[in-house]
Amino acid sequence: MVKLAEWQGKAVFRNYGIPLPKGTLATSADQAEVALTAGEIGLPCVVKAQVLSGGRGKGGAVRFAATAEQLREAVDGILALEFKGEKVREVLIEEKVALARELYVSIALDRSLRLPVLIVSAQGGVEIENVAEGGIVRIPVHPLPGLVAYEKRQAANALGLSGGPAKALGPLLDRLWSAFQHEDAELVEINPLAVVGDGLVALDAKVIIEDDAAFRHPEYAEVRDDRTPLEEVAREKGIAFVQLGGNIGVIANGAGLTMATLDVLAEFGGRPGVFLDLGGTDDPAKVTEAFLLMADAKPAAVFLNIFGGVTRCDSVARGLVQAMKTVPEAERFPLVARIRGNNEAEGVAILREAGIASTPDLKESVKATVAAAAASASQGGKA
Ligand code: GDP
Ligand code: MN
Repeated sequence: MVKLAEWQGKAVFRNYGIPLPKGTLATSADQAEVALTAGEIGLPCVVKAQVLSGGRGKGGAVRFAATAEQLREAVDGILALEFKGEKVREVLIEEKVALARELYVSIALDRSLRLPVLIVSAQGGVEIENVAEGGIVRIPVHPLPGLVAYEKRQAANALGLSGGPAKALGPLLDRLWSAFQHEDAELVEINPLAVVGDGLVALDAKVIIEDDAAFRHPEYAEVRDDRTPLEEVAREKGIAFVQLGGNIGVIANGAGLTMATLDVLAEFGGRPGVFLDLGGTDDPAKVTEAFLLMADAKPAAVFLNIFGGVTRCDSVARGLVQAMKTVPEAERFPLVARIRGNNEAEGVAILREAGIASTPDLKESVKATVAAAAASASQGGKA
């Protein structure tokens, strides 16, 4: 997921002409004061932590300042925060607008409808999570014509707008739609969209770019800082590799089998630490690369759960054995294998020759993995 911070989302919105408050980024109180003196920001202003988690308003990560001194205090205070586990490295400082109402507007991909939906609520702001379902209106949008006039009127009604703000809504929604479509977003959200005088201003921005479209948007390549260094290496090699909190590694093929394997492991008391989806590959070189990556993650034990469909068990097994040899002795981990399906007998034989037993039963193999991880954790301290 390419999730943009507020200031990055606002930069996108600015490109599409969505009205925003004037503001600037700062990484220190000194920098904020310089911006104030230079007239880049004015007073009163709002200081906002640039973190990826939401709920900043309620969590003390959005503060107001009416004087230069209060601005310094707010910047220092927020930069000292660790917000929901994320260190605050920069703040966005914006002019404080005098708002009459706070609205919620977003366009998201609805996977069950298989359509984008325009979602609006007249009760926007920090309490949006607590708004009853009846207070939220969803308008499915056909992607070819995009937002049409009556849908925009429907949104204006749902938001209880009339006069100037109602007139401003149409063009704003067109711009938001344009951003959603051209940036290949899965979400563009404005909460709150503030009614200010006769117009509308986006006070917050949440933009998520569809991962599968990332290749079309090299401009967001730098944004992705939610990957671990190993995940980054995996991505470059085109391997689906995700690190989690536990100590057991899972190598499976196909997203369905991989997810199911994680569930079964958890059910038997195992804590998945990293999973790797080989997908449809049985290319020994690719399997070797995947295996070495797994070794780098230093799991206490690894469960290899392969179903041979298009992928043949024997080629996966061959790649695996080849890979095992390249992992230095000290970095080897206990491996439990379950390899079933196409060319199963050959695959099992290749593994057996290399000293790896394949357990056909899922529960048995999961239990063996959990036990192996516990044993290796108690020996080597890999927890
Ligand atoms: P979030 O809580 O992380 O979503 O942070 P927001 O950017 O949405 O800010 C939280 C709340 O701060 C908003 O819902 C507003 O109530 C308030 N707020 C933010 N900017 C302004 C502003 O310029 N003027 C006023 N009056 N309130 C603001
Ligand atoms: Mn918000």
